[in-house]
Amino acid sequence: MSAEKLIEVKNLKKYFKINSKSILKAVDDVSFDIFKGETLGLVGESGCGKTTCGRTMLGVYNKTGGQVFFQGKDVHNLNKGEKKNFNKNAQIIFQDPYASLNPRLTVLDIIAEGIDAQNLYKGKEREEKVYELLRLVGLNKEHANRFPHEFSGGQRQRIGIARALAIEPKFIMCDEPIAALDVSIQAQIVNLLIKLQRDYDLTYLFIAHDLSMVKHISDRIGVMYLGTMVELAESNELYKKQYHPYTQALLSAIPIPDPKIELARQRITLEGDVPSPINPKPGCRFQGRCRYYKKVCGEENPILKEVSSGHYVACHLY
Ligand code: SF4
Repeated sequence: MSAEKLIEVKNLKKYFKINSKSILKAVDDVSFDIFKGETLGLVGESGCGKTTCGRTMLGVYNKTGGQVFFQGKDVHNLNKGEKKNFNKNAQIIFQDPYASLNPRLTVLDIIAEGIDAQNLYKGKEREEKVYELLRLVGLNKEHANRFPHEFSGGQRQRIGIARALAIEPKFIMCDEPIAALDVSIQAQIVNLLIKLQRDYDLTYLFIAHDLSMVKHISDRIGVMYLGTMVELAESNELYKKQYHPYTQALLSAIPIPDPKIELARQRITLEGDVPSPINPKPGCRFQGRCRYYKKVCGEENPILKEVSSGHYVACHLY
């Protein structure tokens, strides 16, 4: 990982208007950087806004507020040439490999979608490029003329990865890429992503709903809760020390492979229900479930601040 910022997210907001009185604040004032060559893990429960954050970052959704810069250029204000360049450099691997591959196209045409859109290769060269990509992701050229339904879930995700790599991007948003796969296959896909990152100098945003698999792949991890970033730190540091009560609860839910430690340790159970992101109350979004709640938590939004070197937390306890 270098110190060069590839992506800068500044006070990003994405709201959805439900009706004249209700606004769903899916992403609310989120800021972070992604450095060239790193994997930033983004975790949180379903509905916390992590996928919406990633998609708004990439311009798939219009933003409500804030800014996103990719190599210094404002993603939501690109001219035609800059947009084409950005689309080439920023790709997505989707959660559901069943839904994200067009069932009527052969694997060759699926993987070549980006190549065709960018007009990069034609004829024999196009075919050779797809064969090379199939080899890279652990498949082979005999797979090129088959259709998605002929493959297992893990193989389809490999096809999705080959498609994302086809136009040699700099950045890939991996949107829960292992969530729909068997546990036995998950590690294979994560290891493939790690190898490709090393070989091709890729930068990842790796979105996941639990902390166990993100640890293996992430250099740093951001924890989101109900549209806000509550903690951000280097991966090893976050596993050693969690400041935010929500991160503490998330970590305590991961089983430990040593039965003695597992039996002895205390789980933190979250109180209350996950609140709605529609018209959220003022103050900390975690207030209804927090065992450390104090008066100020219901009055002021805690700001993300650095509590130790490179470790940021948004909580009135610090
Ligand atoms: Fe809990 Fe208050 Fe910290 Fe929110 S700001 S996590 S309610 S202590």
